[in-house]
Amino acid sequence: MGNFPVTSWEHLTDDLLPADAVIAIDGPAGSGKSTTAKALAKRFNLLYIDTGAMYRALTLAALQGEVDCAEEKLLVDLASSSNLELKTGRSEIGVFWNGEDVSQAIRNPEVDAMVSLVASHSGVRSIMVKYQQALGRRGGVVMEGRDIGSVVFPLATAKIFLHATLEARVDRRYKQNQLRGHQVSREELTEDLAKRDKKDSERATSPLIISPDAHVVDSSGMSLEQQNDACALACLVNPALDLELDTDLEPALRELPSNYRFAYSIMNGVSRFFGLKEVNSQGKAVPRGCILAANHVSLWDPPFVGSTLRRFRVNTLAKAELFQIWPLGNLFRWVDSIPIKRKGFDTSAFDAASKSLLAGNNLLIFPEGTRRAIGHPGPVRNGLGILVQATRAPMVPIFIRGSYGRSPLGGSPLSPLEITQGPVIRWHGLETLLETMDPKEVSRRIARLCQAAYEELQARSFERIAQTDFEKKMGRKQLKKFAARQKKVFGS
Ligand code: C5P
Repeated sequence: MGNFPVTSWEHLTDDLLPADAVIAIDGPAGSGKSTTAKALAKRFNLLYIDTGAMYRALTLAALQGEVDCAEEKLLVDLASSSNLELKTGRSEIGVFWNGEDVSQAIRNPEVDAMVSLVASHSGVRSIMVKYQQALGRRGGVVMEGRDIGSVVFPLATAKIFLHATLEARVDRRYKQNQLRGHQVSREELTEDLAKRDKKDSERATSPLIISPDAHVVDSSGMSLEQQNDACALACLVNPALDLELDTDLEPALRELPSNYRFAYSIMNGVSRFFGLKEVNSQGKAVPRGCILAANHVSLWDPPFVGSTLRRFRVNTLAKAELFQIWPLGNLFRWVDSIPIKRKGFDTSAFDAASKSLLAGNNLLIFPEGTRRAIGHPGPVRNGLGILVQATRAPMVPIFIRGSYGRSPLGGSPLSPLEITQGPVIRWHGLETLLETMDPKEVSRRIARLCQAAYEELQARSFERIAQTDFEKKMGRKQLKKFAARQKKVFGS
C-alpha cells in the first residue's frame, strides 16, 4: 500500500467513515473484490453493489436471445428495452432481468467467456454507468467493478485497486467453481482470466486502470483477513486526514496578511453583487500545499473562485497578459499570483508554482489551460500532472457554473452562479504507477481524473438545478468554437 501521511493510527476507528461514503473497489477478475466488498459492507454498514453482475445479466440475456455480442446497437436496444433490477443488501445481491431471478445463471462459464466483449461497447457502458451512479449517488455504498474509481465515482470517499498474480487468481476461481459445481480446468481458467484482463485493460472506453488516487493492495500473499483489514484501513485514511484539517484552520486564518484580506474583500463584494452561491466550500478546510483546480468558462472565474477561498492564502497561476491590465494586474500582484506564458511550457512559472506549493501555500490553477465551453469541461492539460508529480500536492477540484453571461448590472436569471468544492484528492497510487508507467501517461491519467471530477460536480449541480435553456444554447454555440480550437491544440 502507498504511504499514508497520517501522524498516528490510533484515531482510525470504524466510525470515522461518513454515512454517505462511497467506497470504490476496482481490480481484475478473481482478485477478491467481491469477498472484500461484502466484508466492508458488513463492517461499515454499507450497501454492496456488484457492477460486474449488470454486465453479466445483459450478456446472459444476449446469449439466451441469440443476440450477437459483437453488435453494439443490438445490445443497447436489448438493454434499453429490458428491465434490470439489482436487489442490494449487506452481503448478497439479487439480480433480476425482466423480473426473472438470474443471480445464479450469470455466473455460468458461457457468460464468463462473453462478458468482457459485451462490456467493451461504449453504448452499453453509458447505460450501465448511469444506472450505477443512480444507485450510489446518495452514498452509503461499496461498489466493485473495473471503472468505479476512474469513471463511475471519481469523487469516491476511498478508492481501492485490488490485484493479485494470475496464478493466485486462477487458484481462487478454481476453488469457487468447484463449490458451484462448474467443471473448468486450471488451463481454461488461466486462459479466460488472462483474456479478460487484456480485454478489460485495453478497451477504449473506461478501461481497467489504477486511478492515481487509489490505494493499491496486492492480495497475492495475503490471507483473506489481511486483505480485508488492508482494505478497511484504506477506507479510513482520507476521512482521518480530513479530520486533521480542521485543527489547521485557525492558524491559517490568523496568518492571513492584510493584502489578502483587502483582495478578498473586493472579491467578496463582486461575488455578492452577482449572487454567487457556494456549495460545500463554506467552512470547509483544505490542506496546506494543495492544488485548487478549477474549471474555466469566463474571465470572471478568478475573482469568483477567489472569494470562496477567503480563509486561506492562495497563490494563483494567471496568464501573463492579465498582469498588464489595471487594476487587475495590481490585484494579482498583491496576492502573489504567478504569471504564466501560455505558449509552450513556461518553466519559470512551473518552478515558482512548485516552490510555492512545497512551501505550504495553496495554489489556484485552471488546468484546462484556457476557457472551455459551458457544460463541457475539459480536456485538462498535462501541466496539472507534471505539477502533481513534482510536488505530490493533493488536489481539490472546484467546479464553477454560471460565470458566463453575467449581466454587468448584477445577477442573471439565465444561469445559476454556483461554485462547488469537491473533496480533497490524495495521490495514494502515484508511486505504484510511476514504477512501471511513463510519467507522461501518469500525467494524462491525473488529467483524466480531474476532468471526470468536473463532470461529476457538474452532474450534481445539474441535479440540483436543471441545465437552463441559456446554458444549453451557449454550450452548443461555444462547443463548435472550442472543438475547432481543441483540434488545433490536441489534434482531435
Ligand atoms: O467482476 P466480474 O468478473 O463479475 O465482471 C465481469 C466482467 O464485466 C468483467 O470481466 C468486465 O469485462 C466487466 N465489467 C466492466 N466494468 C465493471 C464491472 C465489470 O467492464 N465496472
